[in-house]
Amino acid sequence: MLTDIEIARAAARKNIAEIAARLDIGAGDILPYGHDKAKISRDFIAGLDGAPPGRLILVTAINPTPAGEGKTTTTVGLGDALNRIGKRATVCIREASLGPNFGMKGGAAGGGRAQVVPMEDMNLHFTGDFHAITSAHNLLAAMIDNHIHWGNALDIDLRRVTWRRVMDMNDRVLRDIVLGLGGPANGTPREGGFDITVASEVMAILCLASDLADLQDRLGRIIVARTRDGRPVTARALQADGAMTVLLRDALLPNLVQTLENNPALVHGGPFANIAHGCNSVIATRTALALSDYVVTEAGFGADLGAEKFLNIKCRKAGLAPSAVVLVATVRALKMNGGVAKSDLGTENVAAVRAGAVNLTRHIENLRLFGVPLVVAINHFATDTDAEIAAVSDICDGLGVRAILCRHWAEGGAGAEALAREVVRLAAEPSDFTTLYPDEMPLWDKIGTIARRIYRADHVEAPPAVRKQLDDWQADHGHLPVCMAKTQYSFSADPAALGAPSGFTLPIREVRLAAGAGFVVAICGDVMTMPGLPREPAANRIGLDADGNVEGLF
Ligand code: ADP
Ligand code: MG
Repeated sequence: MLTDIEIARAAARKNIAEIAARLDIGAGDILPYGHDKAKISRDFIAGLDGAPPGRLILVTAINPTPAGEGKTTTTVGLGDALNRIGKRATVCIREASLGPNFGMKGGAAGGGRAQVVPMEDMNLHFTGDFHAITSAHNLLAAMIDNHIHWGNALDIDLRRVTWRRVMDMNDRVLRDIVLGLGGPANGTPREGGFDITVASEVMAILCLASDLADLQDRLGRIIVARTRDGRPVTARALQADGAMTVLLRDALLPNLVQTLENNPALVHGGPFANIAHGCNSVIATRTALALSDYVVTEAGFGADLGAEKFLNIKCRKAGLAPSAVVLVATVRALKMNGGVAKSDLGTENVAAVRAGAVNLTRHIENLRLFGVPLVVAINHFATDTDAEIAAVSDICDGLGVRAILCRHWAEGGAGAEALAREVVRLAAEPSDFTTLYPDEMPLWDKIGTIARRIYRADHVEAPPAVRKQLDDWQADHGHLPVCMAKTQYSFSADPAALGAPSGFTLPIREVRLAAGAGFVVAICGDVMTMPGLPREPAANRIGLDADGNVEGLF
């Protein structure tokens, strides 16, 4: 069997101008990065204002397991399938982070016969967006310490600087460090540290901004520290917002690439799915909607986190309303949710599929709260048996949801045509999209609403300091949505509680204000904002072959 990269390399790629033409973007309106990547120009995007939008299709999944669910693969496969049945469809996905690529094997461009290309570029430096975000973030960090060095006119409390530095690499030794050692010429010593670029608030801002003016406005609102009497210090007070916007000017433009079947894909932005909202940029989604009948997009992690945040944060803030939701499930992941060990997933086990389907059922119930038509996509793996697949269909039938077997990983768009037809049917149905809570609901109650209605927690608990923090923010920031940072593996905060746990207490350990991005982050349990590399990092095996091709990355 061919690997993802072998399939990708064998693809007959078209020049990016041809792909742009498919969306009626003229050669003068793209900014080509080589032959097969381009950004879409600012003027062209500005000129789209008012174009009637196409239909937005969200791809989400049951809780992820190491068995793999295939949201990106299904997003790409569905996009290709919609094009095959004669619809004008564009795929919108996130860019890849370098760090994880050199840690665990596996890219972000889909898989099998459902990928976007050029996948090596997309998984490496691509069009430089993440480098620009890293630079803008670190410019602000440098300006904070420079401000302190030259007299600290804003009276920044050195112990309460919350703006860290970022890099796009997994490097655990940089999590907590001391800055400014070596005497007066090197600034003022204080504790600091690095996060990975995708965890930067600048990333979240870029993905939620509607244009350059909004971008700069949001950057200016970033709170970087507190003064010694507790007042917030913003990027605007440090006069950093203008220069940061300059660094991000081109990064704000969506990147156009193509699928293996030469259909358009916009790959833009990549915020963390825990301390941020985890989906591609608003600009890319809006651009795609103005240019296509259907836009297929993905939200990170399982539906409890990814879809919830896509709907309650991105759609609310950008005024988007999805026309249908595709919930991806795999027999393998259902078996794991039903208690089967990873090593035994190759053996037929209908009882485990049925037991694990409580997870699928819960996600179906939850997604219905948002009032959008729903279909289940069974992402077919070679080891699935007919009886196991029938069990999934059976359970979905009982819930009044169609489950469609999809073979896009093995067959490309042709393998997902049935899904495409069902999506077209659903998207034509009346949709009654509603968010889970109104803006006016107090922050603490928003957290409680998500905890009880989506996670099925009985109680939410938080130390007094967290409650006080939320109370303090309520007056000025109480209208913001909350961004939950929780394990992706369970509905609860315990990653080992698979299936459909209920009746638990959700602990809120910490809250953070992302005033520029426009959400309050509620952290349940540990979140890692600077990952480390595993004992045997993928980097050990990555290199170039004799022809200069990348080997070992995927
Ligand atoms: P997600 O977006 O949910 O994280 P991806 O679509 O990126 O998942 O897929 C994760 C991995 O699983 C990829 O390496 C992909 O090639 C693989 N994969 C996805 N679907 C299948 C399938 N049906 N059969 C085999 N491998 C698959
Ligand atoms: Mg994905």
